[in-house]
Amino acid sequence: MNYKIIDGKKLAQVVKDDARERVIKLKALGWTPRLVSIDVGDSAAVSLYIKNQQKAAEKVGIEFEHRHYPGSITQREMGAAIHAFNADPRVTGIILQRPVPNTLDLEELENTIHHSKDVEGMSSLNIGNIVYGDSSLGPCTSLASVELLKSTGLNLRGLEVVVVGHSEIVGKPVALLLVEDLCTVTICHHGTRNLSYHTRQADALIVAVGKPGLITANMVKPGAAVIDIGINQVDVTLPDGSRGTKVVGDVDFDTVKEVAGWITPVPGGVGPMTVAMLLRNTVVATERQRKRYEELVRP
Ligand code: NAP
Repeated sequence: MNYKIIDGKKLAQVVKDDARERVIKLKALGWTPRLVSIDVGDSAAVSLYIKNQQKAAEKVGIEFEHRHYPGSITQREMGAAIHAFNADPRVTGIILQRPVPNTLDLEELENTIHHSKDVEGMSSLNIGNIVYGDSSLGPCTSLASVELLKSTGLNLRGLEVVVVGHSEIVGKPVALLLVEDLCTVTICHHGTRNLSYHTRQADALIVAVGKPGLITANMVKPGAAVIDIGINQVDVTLPDGSRGTKVVGDVDFDTVKEVAGWITPVPGGVGPMTVAMLLRNTVVATERQRKRYEELVRP
């Protein structure tokens, strides 16, 4: 099979270039997008995500403010800190990094972020808006996956799409987004009786589970587009014989690429595009806040 790699880095660059131009226009009007990143407790993986987001944000001219809180913070204290960012007119976007300690109610905190500054797109209002056809501040990874699928040039109308995983952050919203594009969508999860029966029907297979090697070549329809959202760190033997780790997706890339028509690599697929979507959402949020402000001061 002649498969094509869906290059997330290249597509992300297009989105970031657009964001950079829009940031220049906003700055000229006196509006500098400022993204506040909140993380709680200590996680090496989260620190790496934040570093990547900061680097990418600053490259397009978005100010990035990193706020780290101890794992002992209470729900009330965290809520108060978010309210302060909501009220600060210099802050135009807020992202609460996952995971948070299980002493905190994540959903409540997501909903404490004012929807106009919710650039991760995880508040009930922004997710709910997808049902009404408005994905302008949708969840970043879901938006990224749809953009990567669109980049194949496949006609989404009537396309059989199978989504594996039904989390709030990825599986469910990506399915809703694709229904809006008139795909015929099946969502698989824990309760699905015969996963490979469904995956083999898919013209496009979107996988967000967190299990390396879950999708093998015999589960994929020849020529399908495969979007691998999973990020898993696995132990490997390095060329010098020592033990190390590497990052892989949920799809067994080496075998599935021989069957697929298109496939996203991990890393280099959904990850960079997700960061680009976060920047785009931050720009959209700032543009809207400016417009709202103009309407208020110049009715
Ligand atoms: P999650 O909340 O743990 O959800 C995993 C989903 O997979 C659940 O819906 C679960 O169903 C389902 N599942 C578990 N085992 C399954 C199986 N054998 N067959 C079918 N479905 C199964 O995880 P998540 O936050 O969605 O993340 C999923 C993966 O994507 C992780 O590797 C994560 O690191 C990655 N991710 C990547 C990005 C990115 O930017 N690239 C962003 C977010 C997440 P049940 O609930 O029924 O068990």
